[in-house]
Amino acid sequence: MRHRFFKIVTASTLLLVSCAPVSKLPDVDPVQHKLEELKQRQMAVEGKRDNVARLFRLSYPIVRANAELCGEKKAKALGVRFLALEAFGSEFHRAALGVGVNKRPTVIEVVANSTAASAGIQRDDILIGVGDTEIPESEFSEKLKNAFDKASKAGSSVRLRFDRAGKDYSVDLQFETVCDYPVVIIEDDSINASADGKRIRFHTGILRFASKDEELAIIIGHELAHNVMGHIDKGQGNAMIGLVFDILFAGVGVNTQGAFSNMAGQAYSQDFEAEADYVGLYFVKRAGMPIEIAPNFWRRMAVEHPGGIKDTLSSSHPATPKRFVALEQTIKEINAKIASGAPLKPEVGYSPAGEKLTDTPPKLQGGN
Ligand SMILES: [Zn+2]
Repeated sequence: MRHRFFKIVTASTLLLVSCAPVSKLPDVDPVQHKLEELKQRQMAVEGKRDNVARLFRLSYPIVRANAELCGEKKAKALGVRFLALEAFGSEFHRAALGVGVNKRPTVIEVVANSTAASAGIQRDDILIGVGDTEIPESEFSEKLKNAFDKASKAGSSVRLRFDRAGKDYSVDLQFETVCDYPVVIIEDDSINASADGKRIRFHTGILRFASKDEELAIIIGHELAHNVMGHIDKGQGNAMIGLVFDILFAGVGVNTQGAFSNMAGQAYSQDFEAEADYVGLYFVKRAGMPIEIAPNFWRRMAVEHPGGIKDTLSSSHPATPKRFVALEQTIKEINAKIASGAPLKPEVGYSPAGEKLTDTPPKLQGGN
């Protein structure tokens, strides 16, 4: 009995020894260790800030160019994106402060040709006032939201006050009209994007995969089309999201674990996918962005990541050659309209894939 016990102990000791590293590893200086930790946190903060800025820079022209086709889902916006320290967890605050993130909302992106750009607003300007509301250094969210809501209801412009490198300046900005579908980022590595009828959601994984800006624009157009065409049941909830605040200011990541995983499981019908492809290309082109990359990009998504794409090209909805032929045809249709000077507007209820989408209510409104 004793003997057997000894054997077991020896065996487990051997097992432990074989799991430990056998090389002499370098001694790590605790100060260096801390510095490296700070460096990595700063890189994470910068990566997130870049993602938010990039998505805003690409989505804003698309939601603005198509405002007249978005029915009642319109919002007022300025073409400027802010970020503040409170968008990050407290463990990231020191790192964030070190790379230019401030307690007050700070400009991280100004969209070219927007009202903010023509007013001369620049990256790193710090927002200190909206209308007659002062923006404090902490707990300003509610104040800021109310100030923007008030301004957007009261008139066609808003006065903003900024601190630029220690000097105050004020500027009056005319509101622009955009489709009221804010774009949000989900911290998740899967190659996925979706539309829920209220917002457009991008997972960090797809931001990495769609490394070219024109690829990301194609997805923005596609998801916006799902929302505008009413592919998602809008019956659930009626939260007062939107208006100016959401378009202006958003957290870096949104934790939507439960809600999102339910959403992601839903696959749209082939008809809806065809329609989102078709209308989405119009949306992107109307914003003056290139669309020629679309067929190859969707093909790349389908071929390389069939399991990771839950929305558009899920394995339950295999990528049909028809879909890609339809994308090519849509590009031809759009280019022909541009060449002939015809209104650049999708033919609602029609899909180049051949289906008559008669079950889809024609939701597109407005002129050209
Ligand atoms: Zn889709």
